[in-house]
This record gives sequence, C-alpha cells and structure tokens, in this order.
Amino acid sequence: MRFTCSSCHVSTPADPRVWRCVQCGGPFEIATRKAFAAESIDARSPSLWRYRSAIALPEGGPMVSMGEGMTPLVATDFGGRRVHFKLEYLAPSGSFKDRGTTVLISALKGWGVERAADDSSGNAGASFAAYAAHAGIHAEVFTPAHASPAKLAQIEIFGATLHRIEGVRAKATEALEAATREGMVYASHAWSPFTLEGTKTVAYEIWEQLTGRASDTAALAVGGPDYYVSPIGQGSLFLGAYRGFKDLQAAGAISRLPKLIGVQSAGCPPIAEAVRKGLERAAPIQQQPSIAEGIALARPIRDREILAAIQETDGTAIAVSDSEIHAARHALARIGLFVEPTSAVVGAALLRLSLQGTVVAVLTGSGLKSPV
Ligand SMILES: [Zn+2]
Repeated sequence: MRFTCSSCHVSTPADPRVWRCVQCGGPFEIATRKAFAAESIDARSPSLWRYRSAIALPEGGPMVSMGEGMTPLVATDFGGRRVHFKLEYLAPSGSFKDRGTTVLISALKGWGVERAADDSSGNAGASFAAYAAHAGIHAEVFTPAHASPAKLAQIEIFGATLHRIEGVRAKATEALEAATREGMVYASHAWSPFTLEGTKTVAYEIWEQLTGRASDTAALAVGGPDYYVSPIGQGSLFLGAYRGFKDLQAAGAISRLPKLIGVQSAGCPPIAEAVRKGLERAAPIQQQPSIAEGIALARPIRDREILAAIQETDGTAIAVSDSEIHAARHALARIGLFVEPTSAVVGAALLRLSLQGTVVAVLTGSGLKSPV
C-alpha cells in the first residue's frame, strides 16, 4: 500500500511512523482508493464493514470492530420541517469518531503496532482508547487539561495513558509531535487517511436507508438527500460524507450530490469565514471560547478540500452562537434526541436555515458525554 501527499503529490510506502508528507508537511491520501459497488455490500453484516470491499486497508490486516456504523436514520419534524437525523451518537464509544477509528486501529493492528498515540479534546481520544483496548494496543492520548471531565474519564477507563497538556488545544498537538520525534507512533485521527475511509461509509448508509434496498438500482437513482448537514471541526465526517456521496455518484447510485452544509461555532468559524469571504483556504482566526468544544479547531488540516466540496455541491458553511446552540440542544432533547453541545450546532443551523427537500442531519456525539 502507498500514500500520496494531497499537497505536493509525492508518493511514499504507507508506514505507521510517517504520519504526514516529509517533503511538504501535507496530509496523506491512500494512493489507490477503492470504488463503491452496490452489489458488493455484505448485507449480512450489521456494521459499516458491510462496505469492506470499498475500504482500503494494509494487506492481510484484521478488522478491529465493535459493530460500529449502521446507526439509525430517524425521520421527524424539527423546526417546522421533516428532517432525517442520523444518530451517530449511538456508536460504541458514543460518537461518530468510531467510524474512522475502526479503520485506523485495524490498519495499526495489521502493521503490528503495539503502542500508539493520538491528540484529542475528547471524543476522538475516547474512541481511540476504546478501539486500542479492544485490539490489545496501548494507547496514549494527549489532551488539553481543560477538556470535559466526562470525556477525560472515558479515555482513562479504557486503560489509556492520558497526558493533560495546559494551554489551548494546539499545545496538546505540539506535545505529541515532540513525542513522535522520540519514536512514538502518531495515529492521528485528523491526519490519517484511514479516518476518511471509515467516515465515508456514513454516505453509503444514508443512501441505503433512504432508498430501502441496496440491490434495486433503478429506485436508487433518485434516492440521495438534497441536503447533508454536519458540524465541521477537522471536517472528517463532512469530508467523509463528501467522498462517500462522490463514490455513490460514480457508481450511478445517485444522480447528483447533496448540498453539503457545514456548521461551526461563532467562537471558532474558520471554514464559515472562508466561505463568507470566498477563500480557497481557511485564514487564521481569533478563537473565542464556545460550548461547542469538540469543533473548536482554528486550522483544519484539510481546509482546501472542505472548501472545494462546499463549492462543488453548491453548499455553504455557517457559524452559530452559543445561545443558538443551547436552544437547539434543548429543542432536540424535547423530541427525544440527547446530544452534546458540539452536536447541537446542527440543530441550530436547521432552526436558522430554510432548506427544502430531503434533509439529512448528523447528530455526532452523545448528550451523556456532557450531561449538564
Ligand atoms: Zn507533500
């Protein structure tokens, strides 16, 4: 297996110790991505591994799975319209991150890695710790000291070594990058191309669930949603969905891409700002505190691809305030959907925007992670 740099396009053998391009520092892509084919879905598998034929992994590696994926798609009235909510918070560790982690940890296991680290403000760290524990890999998680206590407790209970780093989120990443220079395998959910191999399956599932039958291609051609609404932090679920919908379009399963709507907090809106200003890359921003801590990332690594996906699909990105997030979290709970504040940004966007047609919105993290 080989990786290709998404910036300078240099190709290199895939290696767990090399987490980004050594030439230019850009993020890697898997050199040969696999195609989606409806007839290759393993309908007996109740997890995202039903799409195994479309997921790239190192040769001969195992699948480290806890039944992630195939989350419910629930149609309900919200904000005066019908919305299909994809309940990603029902994953094994309580967030959508498990989609990427199952593929990333499978790759590490296939490579024989016994100890690896990630940096995270919470959900990715908890997911990483859970799957590493399941695979028998020792996890080290670098996290800001101010991250949610419930999330830190969740990371620790899986047996991971937790490094609490004082200062802003970027300090945790700096501390981990220093550890990698001493030989630590940096299994970054944000940098690894395996993450997107997992998150792209959310689009496949939405397509299967909206259309009902995987094998009936005639009915499926009209089956895609008109809008896909998702939070954007690093953008792994947003970009994964984009890639998944592109795969579906290439396979003739949907006739057009949904408009992709990304939602950020007003405290940290680099993508929304770039859309507003018509930029191709996110510019540095002045970060403010927000209750949506899980998407407070000032410099998304794959900003260029996120912005290109928004433009290609005639989508947009917006920023919502903490008071809108509070109100949306409450409104979602009053229809039985209990999510953490970061995930409620999607509800806030639905309450503000007027979207017509089939709307799918992803609810990414459980309310139990941040109950108050
Ligand atoms: Zn490069």
